[in-house]
Amino acid sequence: MQYDLLLRGGRVIDPAQNLDGIHDVAIKDRRIAAVLPAIAPSSAKESVDVSGKLVLPGLIDTHGHVFQYVTGRFGLEADLCGVRSGVTCVVDQGGPSCMTLPAFRAYVVEDKYTRTLAFLSAYLVGGIEGHYYPSLYKPDCVDVEATVKSALENRDIVKGIKAHAELGGFARWGIEVIKLAAEIGRRANLPVYIHFGQLWPLPESGANGVDPDTILDQVVPLLKPGDILAHPFTRHPGGFVNREGKVHPIVKEALARGLKTDVGHGSHFSFRMARIALDAGIVPDTLGADMHGYNTSVPKPRGTPEAHPDQEHMFFGKTRFSLVSTMTSMLALGLTIEQVVPMVTSNPAKMLAMEGEIGTLKPGVDADVSVLHDERGAWTLSDNEGTRVRAGRVLRPYFCVRTGRRYESDASILPPLAVAA
Ligand SMILES: [Zn+2]
Repeated sequence: MQYDLLLRGGRVIDPAQNLDGIHDVAIKDRRIAAVLPAIAPSSAKESVDVSGKLVLPGLIDTHGHVFQYVTGRFGLEADLCGVRSGVTCVVDQGGPSCMTLPAFRAYVVEDKYTRTLAFLSAYLVGGIEGHYYPSLYKPDCVDVEATVKSALENRDIVKGIKAHAELGGFARWGIEVIKLAAEIGRRANLPVYIHFGQLWPLPESGANGVDPDTILDQVVPLLKPGDILAHPFTRHPGGFVNREGKVHPIVKEALARGLKTDVGHGSHFSFRMARIALDAGIVPDTLGADMHGYNTSVPKPRGTPEAHPDQEHMFFGKTRFSLVSTMTSMLALGLTIEQVVPMVTSNPAKMLAMEGEIGTLKPGVDADVSVLHDERGAWTLSDNEGTRVRAGRVLRPYFCVRTGRRYESDASILPPLAVAA
């Protein structure tokens, strides 16, 4: 037999190869062997009919929280939002730090079936409990030297640096943490991923004169091309859309200078804000799902906080989702499948400086493939502001192949097809 596995008759979209059409995908020795309009089933040990399905390069979630246990309630089990949700690669956004990266390597990267990578936390403690304890994130708790060293000596798994530019932090300590994070990114020559939109509650003294609509103005000049502005569709103050309901003027300037945007869907996502940003021409580059233990229905480890201090962090019952359902959200907003697929394949590969390695079905790469159901009908989607939008198309993971091995999409956190009647 020439091939180990053949995926037959699906619509293959591989933006990195400019490929979109009905093709067969052949896998041999855990690598992609061929992608052709027709490959004889007799040439493979096993052949799967995937006609009517989307066959995509293994999906890459640019914003996950999968440092289970070490980050308390916050971290999910990596394969739950990874291979068991149709996603072959998850990037943990700021869970591990220079202090805990060895544990991330041993217990997540090397122990899970999903390919896991990290944007290293700029803070010494990392993203514990979803930043439940704000005092751990002050400038004193950043060590530039140690974080640069950790990043440089772990380049195989560290693909960027994570920090937060938000009102709770700015009210306490100003912009110092972001200056340090930008310095780490420059010295390690890695992209910096900046969270926008209020996350921490305000200190007792209030906002201390900080206007959330000035945060982007202060942060963008510190960033370099390739750095990432996250949560463009957040409904929290200090995001892309200002209090007048308009996209902050510096955003366009930033994107023209080569900065990138990542949706970071999760609980910050608002259809209303997304409409405003998209209408202003802001099309995101990548589409992280931003799932964690506070916005999914997974068991709460004993003794961890009951709820996130930012109550809006908790979904109104919408606790079952995946990277693929965030793709559905984008389609419901009017983006085309041709726009959405690069956001979870070729664009993240670029962001991670792993082009030609992941996010493509080019013969020779690891056989990471995601196969999705592509359903047509009438659904209503809602965000946790209560905004409802109609969807005529819903994508759902069917299975994925990770280095040649097949994983069914059986994660307990996947939404049922009947999203709403
Ligand atoms: Zn997050």
